[in-house]
Amino acid sequence: MESFFDFSDLYDEYDVIILGAGPAGLTAGIYAARDNLKTLILEKNFPGGQVAITEVIENYPGFEEGISGGDLTEKMFKHAKSFGVQIKNGICSELKLEGKYKCISTQSGAIKDLKSKAIIIATGANPRHMGVKNENKFLGRGISFCATCDANFYRGKEVAVVGGGDSAVEEANYLTKFCNKVTIVHRRDKLRATKILQERAFKNPKIEFVWNADIQEVKGDKTVEGLIYKDKVTGEIKELNVNGIFVFVGWLAATDQFKGLLDMDESGFIKTNLKMETKIPGVYVAGDVRVKDLRQVVTAVSDGAIAAKQVSKYIENTFEE
Ligand code: NAP
Repeated sequence: MESFFDFSDLYDEYDVIILGAGPAGLTAGIYAARDNLKTLILEKNFPGGQVAITEVIENYPGFEEGISGGDLTEKMFKHAKSFGVQIKNGICSELKLEGKYKCISTQSGAIKDLKSKAIIIATGANPRHMGVKNENKFLGRGISFCATCDANFYRGKEVAVVGGGDSAVEEANYLTKFCNKVTIVHRRDKLRATKILQERAFKNPKIEFVWNADIQEVKGDKTVEGLIYKDKVTGEIKELNVNGIFVFVGWLAATDQFKGLLDMDESGFIKTNLKMETKIPGVYVAGDVRVKDLRQVVTAVSDGAIAAKQVSKYIENTFEE
């Protein structure tokens, strides 16, 4: 059985190399392989991307009972493999995007130099940090960015959830299955989360809210003991005592290695047109990493499908007589 970690069966040349094995990358893989393109997906962490660590997805069509992010992305992973897509764990250490062939050096123990006719960047985004005093000190020791991964450590305890978007509110609801109390700490007096999630949170007796909070500092000695924040209405400095802090304050595009090569917005998300094309021929972008209005699994898979179909056309026009 072909392994995620084994480079021995890699080819030297591909039709398309996809960077990132989240929903966008895996879907691009499915579509590319069905067009008979020799396809490799390189993933630097684990298959599934951020969605894989989401407890439940309630709005992906076809799963009216909801499906865990892990289960959904495992199905996508197996689906891509079933069409012959190679999916490997490897960082992309060097990259040459200009020219007819794109060149990538990848590393997973050994270094391997690869050539590809086209590239799809589907590297997604990483959780944004709060940027407050002592946050770095407590990363992994009371501060978490993943309720699915860490909720169990807070059984019977009290935690804060920072943020007011879908992630914060959905994960706060989930955390109440484990914790005695969950306080959502938000910088405004209104949530931006989808209404159905808001209503659920307002009705949940284990959820409380701190509004208009400008968080100043994480409090604690060896582990987290609480948050210090300024009440933006009264100007008062207040404390909230909690055993853990779950941070859901948005996402940062995973695009550092493309800076200066591709057009980006001020937050580092890559600009494309509706065909997922970038300014470099043969380089496409799909999923959360691109500039878009709605970052959802359903829009990521859509991007992936469009990008792969465009790659097929591009290869036909550029490489075939
Ligand atoms: P988001 O929508 O960007 O929300 C981030 C939240 O954090 C906002 O409430 C924002 O406040 C707050 N925030 C930003 N920077 C902050 C800072 N430095 N300090 C304190 N608070 C800060 O991020 P998200 O909730 O992770 O959602 C990302 C995307 O995924 C969205 O498109 C969302 O719809 C999607 N998503 C969907 C679902 C679902 O459909 N079930 C679940 C999860 C995520 P303001 O409101 O004041 O800007």
